[in-house]
Amino acid sequence: AHFFERIERLDPALNSCITIDHDAALVVADAADRRLAAGDGGPLTGIPILHKDILLTKGLRTSCGSRMLDNFVPPFDATVVERLAAAGTVMLGKANMDEFAMGSSNETSYYGPVRNPWETTRVPGGSSGGSAAAVAARLCTAATGTDTGGSIRQPAALCGITGIKPTYGRCSRYGMIAFASSLDQAGVLARSAADAALLLQAMAGFDARDSTSAEAPVPDYAATLEDDIAGLRIGLPKEYFGEGLDTGVETSVRAALAELEKQGATLVDISLPNAPLSVPVYYVVAPAECSSNLARFDGVRYGHRCEAPADLADLYKRSRAEGFGPEVKRRIMIGTYALSAGYYDAYYLKAQQLRQLIAGDFRRAFQDVDVIMGPTTPTTAFALGAKTDDPVAMYLNDIYTIATNLAGLPGLSVPVAAVNGLPVGLQMIGDYFAEGRLLNVAHQLQ
Ligand code: GLN
Repeated sequence: AHFFERIERLDPALNSCITIDHDAALVVADAADRRLAAGDGGPLTGIPILHKDILLTKGLRTSCGSRMLDNFVPPFDATVVERLAAAGTVMLGKANMDEFAMGSSNETSYYGPVRNPWETTRVPGGSSGGSAAAVAARLCTAATGTDTGGSIRQPAALCGITGIKPTYGRCSRYGMIAFASSLDQAGVLARSAADAALLLQAMAGFDARDSTSAEAPVPDYAATLEDDIAGLRIGLPKEYFGEGLDTGVETSVRAALAELEKQGATLVDISLPNAPLSVPVYYVVAPAECSSNLARFDGVRYGHRCEAPADLADLYKRSRAEGFGPEVKRRIMIGTYALSAGYYDAYYLKAQQLRQLIAGDFRRAFQDVDVIMGPTTPTTAFALGAKTDDPVAMYLNDIYTIATNLAGLPGLSVPVAAVNGLPVGLQMIGDYFAEGRLLNVAHQLQ
């Protein structure tokens, strides 16, 4: 009831929620109270959370931030939703997001932009901006998010909370609406690394229904939070501290690094020479995969259907023209172009080759260092509308986060000192399945 009261009072100014499931949440919360009273609850029993509206929730509308799915009520739960429910969490509802998770500012949602709780004239970041704003404004304890090129870490940074994108394959993608299948990964936005550890623990692990989910066992993340970081080798890529980085952001990040050094870590200058290629590579690979994934929204099986179609072609064309917003259409056009017969080798194949070089840079770096660190974003939260007319400026927000997804590595953003009242995020990138290490190091800063 406390959280519903806050949502009702504060969310009209933020727009972080798309659907609230009041009645169902109260039933689950009552059951959680009884379990706690009986002494058989777990650490997440009764914990109120929001799910990003890209995750299927049985019987509760799942829009993916799009008019296309405005009327879509899924017949089953995503695996991560199912697992968090089994752990006792209480789902309050569904969080706003960029349409089909395409965006860096949460301004592409069919349900309107989300606002940053620190300053409501600014963006919360995207695409999990509703999740980040809601956690930052204490409308819920934690929220799920998804990250294809930065969509958990970037809004976590701009809203001053902790966000973790696990290794590709750590969490099942079953029931998570696909954007770019080789990059998409679910994770957590929370107030602290300790909270994030508990949620990730419940979400992660093998799922036979997702052929890309990893069979590796899930360690006890909470158990290693307090581990000593003396001797930790932190790599600082020169490509993440170069031109375009706001000086205030850099100062805050370097102050946090100095704190880790004081705790016994060693800072090592490294280079990821192919990292500057990650934005152009991503904007071939992600749209290509999106154009294929979004072909299923044809007005026939589910989602928006146009009025009175003249024939099948008209049904496809008008349903898609009406259902998708401009950013989604731009991505589909880029993707189909890059995949078309005459251009496949020049774009998609080339991008896949460069992706291997980017992953190779990280492999080499992790032979010498334990964790790689830098800023999560080049600037603090920018004004609503500031970049909506310039897609390339918008795409450059993810300059530090995208390489991680191309390599499939885990990444975390932890809040450090603010600049002019706006939060700054420190990004930590770990080796494959090193989520526990990232949460441990982040916990040392909190
Ligand atoms: N901003 C990037 C994009 O627009 C990443 C989005 C994401 O991680 N879902 O594609």
